[in-house]
Amino acid sequence: MQTLRSETRLCLSCMEEHQVAIVEVIEQETFKGVDIGFKATYEYCSNTDGYLETEDMIRKNNLALKDAYRTKMGLLTSGEIRDMRYKYGVSQKDFSEILDWGGATITRYENHQVQDRAHDDILRKIDSDPKWFLEMLKRAKERLSPKAFKSYHHKASQIYNQHKNQYLIDSVHAIYANFEDENVTGGVDLDLNKVVEVINYLALRVSVLHKVKLMKMLWFSDILNYKRHGKSITGLVYQSLPMGAVPAAYDQIVLLDGVCFDTVLYGDNVGYKFIPSQGFEHKYLSDKEIDTINKIVNELGKLNSQEIINRMHQEEAYKQTSSYGVILYSFAGQLSLD
Ligand SMILES: [Zn+2]
Repeated sequence: MQTLRSETRLCLSCMEEHQVAIVEVIEQETFKGVDIGFKATYEYCSNTDGYLETEDMIRKNNLALKDAYRTKMGLLTSGEIRDMRYKYGVSQKDFSEILDWGGATITRYENHQVQDRAHDDILRKIDSDPKWFLEMLKRAKERLSPKAFKSYHHKASQIYNQHKNQYLIDSVHAIYANFEDENVTGGVDLDLNKVVEVINYLALRVSVLHKVKLMKMLWFSDILNYKRHGKSITGLVYQSLPMGAVPAAYDQIVLLDGVCFDTVLYGDNVGYKFIPSQGFEHKYLSDKEIDTINKIVNELGKLNSQEIINRMHQEEAYKQTSSYGVILYSFAGQLSLD
C-alpha cells in the first residue's frame, strides 16, 4: 500500500473527522479468465483499517483493470483510443459514425468496455493510415454535420500530408542508405532540408526552371562546392543519364513538402516548371554555399535545356562516367567552373 496523499475531513468509513489517506494498492483480479494485476486507488481509514471507494474511484479502478487487461492482451488501452481520436479532432459520437459502429461504441471503449480484436485492428489501421480515415470520413459525410465534416476533413488531410511527406523522406533515405563513399556523396550525409532549399533558391533566382535544368544545376552546385570546400552541399548522389546528371531518388525528391512546381503543357508533353514556395527564405544553407549556387546561377541560369545538356556533355565528369553510372566527386578538380 502506498499513500498518495492524505487530507483531514469526515471519514465515511468511521463517520469521524480525521486524516483520511488516499492510497494505491496493487490488486489481482481475474478478468475474462485472465489473471490481471493493476493499481487501484482507495480511501484508507486507520480507525477501522478499512478501504473505501468513492464513485469516481470505482470508475477509475474498473478502467485500470480493463486497461491492464488490454495491455496484457495486446489491445489498445482506453487512453490510446482517446489519443488517436484527439489526433483527428473527432468527437466520440462522430468517431463511431465514421467507423459505422453503434453511436456509443467509442464512448464505451474509452471507458469500461474492452474492444474486440477486429475493432482493435480497425482502430490501429485508422491511426496509422490517415488516407483510409479520409475514405471512411467521406463515406460517412451524410451522417455528419457539414461543419464537423469540414473540420475533420481539414485535420485528416493535414495529417495525411505529413504522413505522405514522412513516407517520402523515409523512402529517399532508404535509397541513400546504400551510398556511403565520400566520392559518391561528396563527403556529407544527405540533407533533405538543404535539397529543398537549393531547389527553392534556384527557382527564385532562375526565371524558367524546368526539370532537366534543375537537375543539372543541382549537380553543378554540389560539385562546384566540393571543388571549392571539399564537400557537396546536399549529399545528393548523381547518376549519369543521356541528358546528364540526375540525382538518385529524384522522383521522390520533387514531391517533398516545400518543393513547388506548375505543370505546363508542351504539345502532348507535360512539363514541370519549378517555382519558389510562398515566402521562401533560406535558413539551412551557409553563406559559402549560397556563393557557390550564385556562381552557378550566373553562369548557367540563362541557358535553355539543350544548352545546359550540351554544357554537361563537355564536362570530364560526364565524359568519363559510364552510362547510368554514379558520377564521382573526384572529377571536381576538372570542372569547367571555379
Ligand atoms: Zn475513518
